Amino acid sequence: MDSSDTPSPIAEPLPYAEVTDPTYAEVAAQNFTVEEVAPDTHVLRGTCPRCNAVLEVPLVGNVFHGMRSIRDVLRKRHTKPSAGDRVEPVICTCEDAHPNRPEGRSGCGAYWTLLLTTEAK
Ligand SMILES: [Zn+2]
Ligand SMILES: [Zn+2]
Repeated sequence: MDSSDTPSPIAEPLPYAEVTDPTYAEVAAQNFTVEEVAPDTHVLRGTCPRCNAVLEVPLVGNVFHGMRSIRDVLRKRHTKPSAGDRVEPVICTCEDAHPNRPEGRSGCGAYWTLLLTTEAK
């Protein structure tokens, strides 16, 4: 086997850092989904673009009242917000070990925004 010289993927702990990057929003828009977990209760579910932890972000408020399909609310392209859009700030809340994390915090420090459209179609 003449495998490449890349080292075997031993997961090195990612240090905690409060950072954002335009690609986080792009990646998150692709992999997050919105699920209705109870009447008028929705969660955003997806993986952190930085540390790949699975996150669940509860959405407060009945923002999607009258929406026909809950699957259409997440904008898959990170465009500029338009009227009727809701900009949802998301911060990583994983429980993984990230060195240098301040006491009492969770997550890897990454944050980004998801664009949700609340326009009825
Ligand atoms: Zn993270
Ligand atoms: Zn993490």
